[in-house]
This record gives sequence, C-alpha cells and structure tokens, in this order.
Amino acid sequence: MKPDPHPGATPIDELVTANRILAREGVIDSFGHVSMRDPADPRRFLLSRSRAPQQVEPRDIMRFALDGSVVGDDAAKPYAERFIHAAIYERRPEVLSVVHTHSPSVVPFTVVSRRMRPIMHMCAPIGSDIPCWDIRHRFGDTNLLVTRLEIGHDLADALGERNVALMRGHGCVVTGRSLREAVFTAVYMEVNAAMLTQALALAEGPEDIVYLSEGEIEAISKGRSSFGIDRAWENWCLRANRPFFAQV
Ligand SMILES: [Zn+2]
Repeated sequence: MKPDPHPGATPIDELVTANRILAREGVIDSFGHVSMRDPADPRRFLLSRSRAPQQVEPRDIMRFALDGSVVGDDAAKPYAERFIHAAIYERRPEVLSVVHTHSPSVVPFTVVSRRMRPIMHMCAPIGSDIPCWDIRHRFGDTNLLVTRLEIGHDLADALGERNVALMRGHGCVVTGRSLREAVFTAVYMEVNAAMLTQALALAEGPEDIVYLSEGEIEAISKGRSSFGIDRAWENWCLRANRPFFAQV
C-alpha cells in the first residue's frame, strides 16, 4: 500500500493538541480537562490520566466507559471528575467532546445572580440560556467536585440540551459536536466572560448592556462553518507548538 501523502492526526494526537491549546489559551491551568467520544466505539470516551493539561502526551490518554470506569487494564490514576464526561456522553448521544474548566473570568459569573450571556458574535455558541448548576442543592456541603456518577447525572440534567452550563463556585462544562467545536466554545466562553466584565464596569447601569439577541445567536449558529473553527485551530496550534492538520 502506498503511504498516505497527506497523513492526518490520530484522534489521540488531536486530543493531546486540545489539551495543549486550552492550557496555552488560559482556559485551563493545572486543572480542568477535555475529552472526546471514542470514534471507534460511541460507548467509550478518551480522557487523559490525572495530569496537568499542558503536560499531556499521547501515552497519557485512557479509555473509559459511560459509567466512568476504566476500560482495560490501564493502571494510571484517572481524573477524579471523569464522571462529568461520563454522565454527559451517556445523556447526550450527539455530543462528541466535553471540556471542563475553572476558567478564571467565568467563575465569578457562577456566584452572582447576573446571568452570563453572549455580547460578541464569536461567543454566540455559548447560547443565551446558560444554567448555573449548584452541587449543594442536592448534595449539601461537599468539596464541590463531581466525584460520582450520581453527581455527574445531576449536572447533566441541569445542562439539558444546551452547549454550556456553569458550576457554582467551581467552573463550567462545555460540549461540542466535535473536539474542535468544544475547544472553540470553551475559549470564547472565557473571552466573553472577560469582555462582559469589562462592559459591566463601563456601563452606566446594570441594564446598559446590549447582548446578542436570540435571532442573532440563531443566525450566527446557522451560518457557521468549520472554516472559522479550523482557522482558529491552526492559529492555536502554532501558539501551542503543536502540528496543524486541516482534516481529521
Ligand atoms: Zn473541576
């Protein structure tokens, strides 16, 4: 067989790149994680072992079932919060990637009554109806971590059919119909939170903010192609010192 003249990245390579991009763009630090549904088996997902995303390498990627259990005999230590991913993949068959972050500009919106909404066109994928899940409502005083499938299901219920949900005093979850889409939304959710905070500081009052309308969000979502995401991905690969592949 002739070698492929345009070899692409493997799914594991792409997942490593996603980890490095999210770290480089300041969306995740030593904590937070990104997963993808296993292209070879939709009842499995791929996620790094417990390691800072900037350090993740191909050999760190583990395979999990939709109850959060490790598939195979991989003895590495998994992330305690893998149940976030397991529960969302179980509830949402169309979701192919999940990002969990503690992104610094987003967290303040999890502890105030002001809702986060998109103010800039690139941020439309976060949607205008962003729930804020509070672990305390059902589980009382905890360490706020999603360390059991039952807690993951409660979070997945709050997320519903939306792309993103906030987690009170903790961070957020972001979903995508591809790995690149989830990363794109996670990056622009952080951008939107930072810009909205600046706009609120400039505003003459709490009502002096013009958010994207429902119609604008819909129009942007309909007109969106993978081109924009790939353009960002290529740039982010350069910044994260990772190879770029046009197609996966
Ligand atoms: Zn967390």
